[in-house]
Amino acid sequence: MNLTVLQHPLAQHFLTHLRDRTTKPSLFRLLTKRLTVLLAIEATQSLALTSRAIETPLEPLDSPVLDDSLVAVPVLRAGLGMLDPIVEFFPDVSVGYIGLERDHATAVASSYYAKLPPRMNGRTTLILDPMLATGGSAAQAIATVKAAGAGRVLMLCIVAAPEGAAFLNAAHPDVPIFAAGLDRELNDLKYILPGLGDFGDRLYGTEITPP
Ligand code: URA
Repeated sequence: MNLTVLQHPLAQHFLTHLRDRTTKPSLFRLLTKRLTVLLAIEATQSLALTSRAIETPLEPLDSPVLDDSLVAVPVLRAGLGMLDPIVEFFPDVSVGYIGLERDHATAVASSYYAKLPPRMNGRTTLILDPMLATGGSAAQAIATVKAAGAGRVLMLCIVAAPEGAAFLNAAHPDVPIFAAGLDRELNDLKYILPGLGDFGDRLYGTEITPP
């Protein structure tokens, strides 16, 4: 399976607090950002470098700088919680948005918004979608950025379900998945177990009790 699960103790620590039903939205947002930093570091290890001539206070130096200009695409609305640290770490990033809404009865995602950078042409693209549940919305988002010309696509999520990871691997075997945690299974409503509830609701304080 093309799936990397973060092993760092900090990732596990942050994830435990994120899952805790008593964690309030402000801390939930902070933990999401911290986990996204760890995910981004892991996912971007193979970014291309080029060399820049600089001068230190002591001598000239040809020194490495990033050569890839990234695109980041949060899937609305929960993916927005992962965007800030990406923009902070990668100042030249271009940001697109894809809006997918899950029908709670059928768990099928439908697109209500897509605004991508005009020049995706071969650029490494990070899809930010915190809960990889069935994999349906992630697969749809990836198909959308590929159709727009994206180069290498990397999937960043906070929690993955085995079903979603398997579905996404089958739909897009070329897309590596990076997750802070791999959970047990989906329930009948396609929520991840043990999970953390509805990510968007917990991020924005729109519902406290998970279904
Ligand atoms: N989306 C969520 O926010 N939570 C889940 O458990 C599954 C999908």
